Amino acid sequence: MTNAAGAAKLQVTMLPSFSLYVTASNLERIKQAAEFGDAITIAGPKGPANINKLCAGGFAKPVLFDGTGYAGVELPADRWVSEQHRAGADRALLPGVFVRWDKDDDTEMLTVIAEQARMAADLDATLLLAIDGRLLAKRHTALSDALIAAERPTALVLADPRDPLAIKGAVAGLRSLAGRAPHLSMLRCDHGGLGAVAIGGGHAAMGLSTSTRHFVATGMKARRLVDNTARVFVRSVLDWYRAAEIAGWSSAGAQLGCPLKCCCGESLARYLDGDLDATWHNMNALADFGEFVLNADPDDRTAEFVNACRSAMSRYGLAGIHGPDLPKPQLTSWAFS
Ligand SMILES: [Zn+2]
Repeated sequence: MTNAAGAAKLQVTMLPSFSLYVTASNLERIKQAAEFGDAITIAGPKGPANINKLCAGGFAKPVLFDGTGYAGVELPADRWVSEQHRAGADRALLPGVFVRWDKDDDTEMLTVIAEQARMAADLDATLLLAIDGRLLAKRHTALSDALIAAERPTALVLADPRDPLAIKGAVAGLRSLAGRAPHLSMLRCDHGGLGAVAIGGGHAAMGLSTSTRHFVATGMKARRLVDNTARVFVRSVLDWYRAAEIAGWSSAGAQLGCPLKCCCGESLARYLDGDLDATWHNMNALADFGEFVLNADPDDRTAEFVNACRSAMSRYGLAGIHGPDLPKPQLTSWAFS
């Protein structure tokens, strides 16, 4: 599966689409994740080499590569772009830079974006920017102006020690940005990335673990974990919960069966068993929501997405259900957006 740079082909990830976002190291996981969505997104500089190995064995799926340059990985841009093309990338991304939060001034953000835009034009590539979530929440107009001026497709990774879309104003910022900036993709995101697709963005690449659902930059304090049970995406309430919490609701009488082929109606509480891997369920449940968004009429996608968030919200705190009490801030923001 080789495509010469610049060869004419349909770039499926430029259209409304989604993929699962997985690290380059686990080839079996890549094959599993490639069963879902329109493409697969591979994180890390070894992505192209590992996809070449899989392609030699017959693997064929549109692929995007996140080189994670924003995390300090050194990748010469021209070589990295060629590597992606040789591995059949749906489109090549720049290595990626981190854009810091500066509460006083947008100069650094604007300078970095202009530099990256020039490089992207030279190499016929997509910009890859990891941005501090506060820029989305508080500087989205300047950000979208800069992306419009860049005249290139952009892939965005949101950075925050917790959920970047839980920052006050971040969902509204993403709504505005996805409506204005041309060809916006969200990488290393959670299901909120599908909101951007629904509003007018291109592609959402959704991660399956806390470290691949957003980016935590150096110096950002990650939350300390006390409960180490599996994290499970609960499709009916559109959020991630720990298996121990789910088991608690279940023992209080909540019905938490998953109707998808991963679980065939069995309860999600069973993932409390540390020997059971919830990844297959999480892939199926995220992809099910992705398909729901993409199957909506393009004119109704935003409304369908918001309605899905409202329906999910209505399942919280139901008397007699004993499920989760309060939706997390991101879901509330989408539902009331
Ligand atoms: Zn399931």
